[in-house]
Amino acid sequence: MTTFQSLGLADHLLQSIRDLGFEAPTPIQVSAIPVISAGDDVAGEAQTGSGKTAAFVLPILQRLCDSPPADSPRVRVLTLAPTRELALQVAGVFTSLAKRAPRPIKVLAVIGGEPIEQQISALNRGIDVVVATPGRLLDLLGREVLDLTGLQVLVLDEADKLLDLGFSEELAALFWSIPHERQTLVFSATLPQKVLDLSADVLRDPVTVRVDDAPEGPVGIHQRVIEVHQDSRRRLLQHLLGEEGWGRTLVFVATQRATELLSAKLRKAGIWAGALHGGLAQADRVAVLAEFKSGRVSVLVATDIAARGIDVPRLGAVVNFDLPRSPRDYLHRIGRTGRAGENGVAVSFIDHSSAAHFRLIEKHSQIELPRERVPGFDLSRQAPKRSKGPAPVKGKRMSKKDKLRAQAAQAAQAEEH
Ligand code: AMP
Repeated sequence: MTTFQSLGLADHLLQSIRDLGFEAPTPIQVSAIPVISAGDDVAGEAQTGSGKTAAFVLPILQRLCDSPPADSPRVRVLTLAPTRELALQVAGVFTSLAKRAPRPIKVLAVIGGEPIEQQISALNRGIDVVVATPGRLLDLLGREVLDLTGLQVLVLDEADKLLDLGFSEELAALFWSIPHERQTLVFSATLPQKVLDLSADVLRDPVTVRVDDAPEGPVGIHQRVIEVHQDSRRRLLQHLLGEEGWGRTLVFVATQRATELLSAKLRKAGIWAGALHGGLAQADRVAVLAEFKSGRVSVLVATDIAARGIDVPRLGAVVNFDLPRSPRDYLHRIGRTGRAGENGVAVSFIDHSSAAHFRLIEKHSQIELPRERVPGFDLSRQAPKRSKGPAPVKGKRMSKKDKLRAQAAQAAQAEEH
């Protein structure tokens, strides 16, 4: 069996690993650490929850400690992450694994929503590792306060999401500012064509590292799907929270407004619930996450973007109150539970209108789940109600505008519940 020791990691890193209670390396760590340590570029396919952060942080820290300190304070490692939460989390992993380094390794998260002046003065004092979100990074580059000329390692974490969120221009601007001679690591939950294209542009002879997922989906996660009328979803959620003893639960909804509405209704019903979405002030995001992690809040209602990459230990369940847009997002969502050897449950609510979409998710994820119904919360037997608006003229198909209107009406109706 591979051990952290046999991966050739320095003693101070082995001590930090012990401090964190990691006993053995995860599969992605076993495959990625030697490749990164050898200085190769990497295209890594790994889900959040697989231990991928430590898989790149450990060999990077080893490299930083092995090379002599630079005479001028220049950033040596830059990690880009698509969301503020993930950036803070990755910076936290760098900091905790660097705790026992022979000399201090300075780590800074540069993210939006926090005063830029403080970040600039920290950068001026000298920082080894910067973990950034693209917008703030671009801002700093524009002000010419971030010297990346000494950059040795660039990491693009959750590269698929960086591209999905439309950060390709920010990435292009970044590539202008960094040395050609560098090590680049691209990590992504899956490697779709657009990530492969990006990788072809920025990686040099990359080694592809991936860990095979069991075809039935991530291990340790019991996936379920429940058919329920969309108006009964909140009551069903309350019922399940009461009956099933999941513990800490993350509930995904489609809109920012729905996070607020649903969490407020749950609180009214006596459930400690909080809302997490991209529209919150940074301080509020950090506060609600801290409350969730400490257990003061037991149910967190979130949008995809806000929940991306957050790492909450002992998360008992993930509920897809609204289905994710893509099979890839489905994997990301359910990957929030059952992490690092723990067990978890992932429950998706579906109805007539979302059944086909869920079949698509199943097909892509190579799973087939039995449909469950919970007595008292059944789907109505009638055909789904038509949304308001004029009855369609026989033989005439709904126009695109009408379709959008109907969808908006349906979404608004859904948010009320
Ligand atoms: P990540 O995929 O980087 O988000 O990591 C998911 C979780 O696994 C985090 O809580 C890590 O602290 C934890 N973790 C990472 N590596 C190990 C390991 N070798 N053994 C146990 N837990 C780990």
